[in-house]
Amino acid sequence: MAALSSPAHTAVPFSGTVPFFSQSASFQQLWPLISSGVEQVVAHGKYSHGRQVAELEQALCAYTGARFALGVNSGTDALVLLLRAAGLAPGEEVLVPAYTFIASASAVVLAGGRPVFVDVEPETYAMDPAALAAAITPRSRFVMPVHLFCQLADLDGIGAVARRAGLTVVEDSAEAIGMRWGGRHAGLLGAGGVLSFFPTKTLGALGDAGAVLTDDPGIAERVAALRHHGRGGRTLDHFPGISNETGLSGMNSKMDDLQAAVLLAKLTRLDADIARRGELAARYSARLSRILGITRLPTVITRNTDTVGAYYVYLIEGEDRDGLARHLAARGIETETYYPTPLPFQPCFAHLGHRRGDFPVAEAAAERALALPLYPDLTFAQLDRVCAAVEEFYTGGAR
Ligand SMILES: *Cc1c(COP(=O)(O)O)cnc(C)c1O
Repeated sequence: MAALSSPAHTAVPFSGTVPFFSQSASFQQLWPLISSGVEQVVAHGKYSHGRQVAELEQALCAYTGARFALGVNSGTDALVLLLRAAGLAPGEEVLVPAYTFIASASAVVLAGGRPVFVDVEPETYAMDPAALAAAITPRSRFVMPVHLFCQLADLDGIGAVARRAGLTVVEDSAEAIGMRWGGRHAGLLGAGGVLSFFPTKTLGALGDAGAVLTDDPGIAERVAALRHHGRGGRTLDHFPGISNETGLSGMNSKMDDLQAAVLLAKLTRLDADIARRGELAARYSARLSRILGITRLPTVITRNTDTVGAYYVYLIEGEDRDGLARHLAARGIETETYYPTPLPFQPCFAHLGHRRGDFPVAEAAAERALALPLYPDLTFAQLDRVCAAVEEFYTGGAR
């Protein structure tokens, strides 16, 4: 009886769910810092595109090493603004991976371009340089590598193909805060990149927000105008946009100061959060590597000396993925399939006429990949319960 009511047992209840994502404990811990930031926003009274946003932009420059960081409404808007500011003209092609979040491709459409899909590499789930070279046409103008889950795309391989073909590289680095390639932060290896601060991302706000990162003053200036109705200066009736140059008008994609205040508070523990994610990922891998039936565990491939990954999503592949997901769900463990349908087969791109078999690596990943819960608030006890349930599925005759 004494053993059953000991703290070790009461602190680790066997029942109870493991949510796919939760950050209520983190928010509780940071609340004093967040609430004082929110009070400052209320006090200065400029709730959009104000002081906290400027402060966050400076902090993002310091963290990433970017010359310019521009706060906007979302990671998706950041991609649209980056493409427009980098000079995408209507109808021009942007090469994007077949396996990514829908926004990588919808941003191209929203910016007036045409997505051309490229298969991915099995090791990184990111764009395959050889498939890229094969997909280029005379209308191709940009290539958008997407960095997914825990590491960067092969930027050397993609960069070499892009240079030969005269393509500009823009990175969808929405998931890649904290990831570096040859010492440079994700998003700064081509013309520019983006960050998403959607709540589930590594640096998440209390709602939607995003940023454009670039070292190019011209792109920064155009993004700054375009996100703010195309305003040219401080007066309310001057909207040159950049329409004389490119025929584009501005939009409203300013960042809220409340979100910036939250992000400034969370930035103080970003490195600790990334370290915690790495620690959890290492524990998952140590436990799961012994289980037959799991066909792939994530790894960060170090192609150059200063490559740094960061675990945003812990993605495994295994036999009977859907059966495993159902087994875990029945035990209160939430998982996600990232990404269940390769983008060329989404209804919105059906007109492109792609067929099954056109993107074999993306199609295989869509069938096999499963993301397990990974976030700083996840406890080792919860993680161990996930691993035990996975093991039970593959070895305990649960199938
Ligand atoms: C989250 C994400 C986006 C979009 O960011 P939002 O802030 O949700 O608009 C774009 N691309 C990738 C790869 C993402 O993971």
